[in-house]
Amino acid sequence: MHNVGMSPNANLFVALRDAFPADRSAVAIETTDDAPLHYRFDDLDRATARLANLLDSLDLPPGSRVAAHVDKSVEALLLYLAVLRAGFVYLPLNPAYQTAELAHFLQDAEPAVVVCGARNFGWVSKLAFTSGVGHVFTLDPDRTGTLLDRAAHHGDDHAPAVRAADDLAVILYTSGTTGRSKGAMLTHGNMLANARTLKDVWQWRPGDVLVHALPIFHIHGLFVACHGALLNGSRMLWFDRFEPGRVLARFADATVFMGVPTLYVRLLAEPGLTADACRSMRLFISGSAPLLPDTFREWQRRTGHTLLERYGMSETVMLTSNPVDGERRPGTVGRPLPGVDVRIAAPDADSGNGGIEVRGPNVFAGYWRLPEKTREEFTADGWFKTGDVGRFDADGYLQIVGRAKDLVISGGFNVYPAEVEATMDDLPGVAETAVIGVPHPDFGEAVVAVVVPRPGASLDPAALVGAVKARLANFKVPKQVIVVDDLPRNAMGKVQKKVLRDRHAGLFG
Ligand code: AMP
Repeated sequence: MHNVGMSPNANLFVALRDAFPADRSAVAIETTDDAPLHYRFDDLDRATARLANLLDSLDLPPGSRVAAHVDKSVEALLLYLAVLRAGFVYLPLNPAYQTAELAHFLQDAEPAVVVCGARNFGWVSKLAFTSGVGHVFTLDPDRTGTLLDRAAHHGDDHAPAVRAADDLAVILYTSGTTGRSKGAMLTHGNMLANARTLKDVWQWRPGDVLVHALPIFHIHGLFVACHGALLNGSRMLWFDRFEPGRVLARFADATVFMGVPTLYVRLLAEPGLTADACRSMRLFISGSAPLLPDTFREWQRRTGHTLLERYGMSETVMLTSNPVDGERRPGTVGRPLPGVDVRIAAPDADSGNGGIEVRGPNVFAGYWRLPEKTREEFTADGWFKTGDVGRFDADGYLQIVGRAKDLVISGGFNVYPAEVEATMDDLPGVAETAVIGVPHPDFGEAVVAVVVPRPGASLDPAALVGAVKARLANFKVPKQVIVVDDLPRNAMGKVQKKVLRDRHAGLFG
């Protein structure tokens, strides 16, 4: 038990609510459908109180997990805030997950409550009850479902649960593009520390309006975007889905946008994307996957704005950022955030590349029920090994060259996919490249490049290999180049290299 009199309540919800503007009738969230809805800050307070009272009425054991397998909606965000408010642990899940995936999360996290879309109630509830889940509610983006029906019977006053900074707030399952998904345990303190730092660094100011068009089962849309706006008492223009034309039309009413690189690429395909369409915007932020320098430059040319790229991950929230004032360098993710220590472990003598390790109040409490795995991922002196490989440039900007697991070892030589990818992306007619290692009888692994042509270009694999030979050491040159229309990506725009490796595993017999 924590003594309220001695220490302030470190519940993240309390900090977010304390940042609401004095005028609680101000609009916090405006939906962007044909019949827009306006949620005032006061509505947020009362709706989360009703949901928190409902959760309290279920007599759940302390620390219970509440899993959300729901489509994006304002109510889904309210559910998240209510779980914080009631002091339980939120478990967001991609609503695209199917039976086998959901079974893993339910068995691993053992939530007490699951909320799902009505169309999935049949199979989700069956799975939930066989996994020992006590309560299954439904929630849909049209504001229907048993969750809201039940919450409507509860009062709109609720004293937020008292929590310490290191109490668990959220379990985020890592995207699992390589191997089995693990639950990263984030505390109230992890997220508040990071949100406060980002408020300063990105210079959130009165009058800022955020266009919110990201999914909310992931750190980017749920934490970086929502915490940012809420902690600034800012309005959000809310899109349940990303539709480039509609999103673009609202830049005129906003100042801040956050996107994964794929969203920027899709916005660039809109003829209406002009400097004039972005005249009221102050900041465009990109993250979750590498931003191609091409996209960076094209955005500058079309809008007059320079994309601000930052880097983070589920286990650590945000780590580095390019500056608001000062040079934003394409191909880099900027400098470490204040209060966050970033170092390169065992840098390569030639390239300076090494494992990126971090320390700070943002670093998570470990992997859910995997103490061994947690120990492996921390160094003896307490730094978390991100699994990313990178180097600092002369001015302290971090460049990410890839995931350690993506490193290709061909004939005993280390090949960093990002280096080969950057080289090939620069060749005429190449839009984008993914470099993977494929089993090879002589080399152990062979470097293989999967390449997407620019619209209208036709690529000759042999000519591409020749061009790379002129630029890189022989061991880095792809043994094979495969031309495709599209790279496989997950919901956050990350290229799924595991899919590519599986697809091309038999290439060399
Ligand atoms: P997740 O935990 O799903 O957010 O994935 C985190 C991973 O995404 C990081 O470990 C990086 O590999 C990658 N990532 C995030 N932001 C960037 C970025 N700006 N550039 C390159 N990779 C990034």
